[in-house]
Amino acid sequence: MSAGFLSVLSQAQRYITERVRGGEPVIDATTGNGVDTLFLAKQSGPGGTVFAFDVQAEALERTRARLANAASAGERLAQVELLLAGHEEMSTRVPSEYHGRIAAIMFNLGYLPGADEKLTTQPDTTLIALVSALMLLRGGGVLTIVIYPGHEGGDAEAAAVEQWVSTIPPTIAQCVMYRFPQKTASPYLIAIVKK
Ligand code: SAH
Repeated sequence: MSAGFLSVLSQAQRYITERVRGGEPVIDATTGNGVDTLFLAKQSGPGGTVFAFDVQAEALERTRARLANAASAGERLAQVELLLAGHEEMSTRVPSEYHGRIAAIMFNLGYLPGADEKLTTQPDTTLIALVSALMLLRGGGVLTIVIYPGHEGGDAEAAAVEQWVSTIPPTIAQCVMYRFPQKTASPYLIAIVKK
């Protein structure tokens, strides 16, 4: 029996684990259920900070509960700032002393499972946030974007993100795509490492 490839979400976490050092500041651009927020809080760890964005209070509540459970189970976590704000405000919501020092930023696009499926990330604001994210990263820092082409509007957002990524000068950052070509409607990953 051969071992399968890592899932898209696991591969995103792998790229992060390889690059974040304990105590470094990181960002979750789409908190959602908080799975990545908790992952980032473990990676950054004590002394570190996670800035976590979502436009739905419900998402931040689910995340707050997930973090509290982990903390009471003895996990050593970074300080997490849960921000009820759009990620397009990232460059003003993250204090200026952190600019150029962020080690990792995760995006998980689309809608929050179990909530309003019409409330999805949108190409215009996603692109504003991605440009800010690239500016906030330190050299060697990593940006991961999990893209969902399968839902209504998701294909247009996927195309917009790919178009933007293809214009990033190689002197600024290196980009990679991780995708299962037999499953064209399934989520896939773009990762960006800043030079
Ligand atoms: N599609 C993934 C989950 C994505 S959750 C899955 O199926 O597992 C995406 C989150 O982004 C949602 O919680 C949603 O509220 C949030 N979101 C939407 N627009 C946003 C914005 N402008 N800024 C920050 N978060 C946003």
